[in-house]
Amino acid sequence: MPRSPVRTSQPRIAIVGANFAGLTAAQQLSRRHSVTVFDPSPWFEWLPNIHELLSGVKRPADLRLSRKRLVARAGHRFVRAAVAELDARRGRLETADGQRHEFDVAIVAVGGAHDTYGVPGAARHVLPFDSVADCDAIGRRLAALARRKGPNSIVIVGGGFEGVEALGEILRAYGRNERLHVTLVEAGPRLLAAQPAGIDRRVRTHCAGRNVTLVTRTRVTRVTPSRVYVDSGRPLPSQLTIWTAGSSASPLLHAWGLAQRPGGWAPVTQALQSRRHADVFVIGDAAALPRPLDKQAYYAMQMGECAAGNVERLLAGRSLRNFRPFAKGMLLTFGDIDTFLLAGRSVVASSALAAAKEGVYQLTMAQIDPPLGGRSLQALSGRLLGGAVRLVVPTLRSAQARRALARLAYFGDGARD
Ligand SMILES: Cc1cc2nc3c(=O)[nH]c(=O)nc-3n(C[C@H](O)[C@H](O)[C@H](O)COP(=O)(O)OP(=O)(O)OC[C@H]3O[C@@H](n4cnc5c(N)ncnc54)[C@H](O)[C@@H]3O)c2cc1C
Repeated sequence: MPRSPVRTSQPRIAIVGANFAGLTAAQQLSRRHSVTVFDPSPWFEWLPNIHELLSGVKRPADLRLSRKRLVARAGHRFVRAAVAELDARRGRLETADGQRHEFDVAIVAVGGAHDTYGVPGAARHVLPFDSVADCDAIGRRLAALARRKGPNSIVIVGGGFEGVEALGEILRAYGRNERLHVTLVEAGPRLLAAQPAGIDRRVRTHCAGRNVTLVTRTRVTRVTPSRVYVDSGRPLPSQLTIWTAGSSASPLLHAWGLAQRPGGWAPVTQALQSRRHADVFVIGDAAALPRPLDKQAYYAMQMGECAAGNVERLLAGRSLRNFRPFAKGMLLTFGDIDTFLLAGRSVVASSALAAAKEGVYQLTMAQIDPPLGGRSLQALSGRLLGGAVRLVVPTLRSAQARRALARLAYFGDGARD
């Protein structure tokens, strides 16, 4: 029998995972509750701009905030540990380092998991593209490759948002290095197959005449330290293989009884309550809503806000409110060459829009970490200065960008830009 929430004087709430969804929930929950936030990493990470670590336009410190400081400022407790076991029926969890905690309500916000889909050799020989540390490591390997003599090959696996943004950053930093060749391999019929075809056409035009090969309708079958084998054509030489080909559900969701099958996302009601345990809310990328949503940071933050309100309603015995997603446009950058603003099935393209992506990053980081004290003010000034010096000013000063601003390209499904 599932427990009914215990209405103690200070209800205990556990938040598992403290990035976009979990941290937002923590920041919204009242200090009246006893809230404990678990995450194995000390840093909140701003993932939408991690590709910029490849070119050095961003540095790791620009994309990280201290979880301990942010959670403490919200009046709660941060435990730097991964949750290994969660027993929703008994209201208990155990961390990987053996700490036990009890809770009345849990919010699970563990995101997704890196997945190489069983491709032989991939788990060992590719560099993942999932975190600040991953992209910082790729940036260092790229810099070392660029200094080496002789021809060097890089393979990017995946032609979705991350793959295209990674390619753009490599071109931003190393586009003039004739010894570096980049191949992007995509299984689908074109780059960003779910988006209007004009983006694929425009990226191809930008790549023409550069040291880049775009290969579509092709699957990677095996990876070794120096080759990427594909199902059509010859093996591709690769000194550096970057894996951007998607993520899957965390195995923890099934292990904790929140997903029906291994590899499944956790089904929730429209109020974000687990369909399997009434005392658990699942939010962010981990949640499978009745109507599927794109896995996006802004939805994760909206869910964090909604779940915090619903946990308080559940504890007060009030009825829950449905989550109403508010769609926002997506900004996809292709280095300093182009930026795409996607709104539904319409696209606006111009390299000058890079400043808008930088603006979203600056504003949302300041919203997550309002400059109320010395540390956050110092961090904000560092981010603003770094963004201005390394990204916005160089982009807007280029003659190409000024021309692009005057000539914004609009396109959508079927229409040619
Ligand atoms: C390269 C890249 C680019 C992206 N670009 C964009 C973009 O431009 N715009 C946009 O809106 N979205 C973008 N996204 C998607 C966006 O980042 C995700 O939708 C968002 O991160 C989801 O937030 P989340 O809090 O659900 O999960 P995550 O951000 O993945 O956070 C999950 C957290 O859970 C923690 N965790 C995992 N397991 C445990 C455990 N056992 N115990 C405790 N903690 C645990 C992790 O350490 C992590 O901190 C991008 C994602 C990537 C990877």
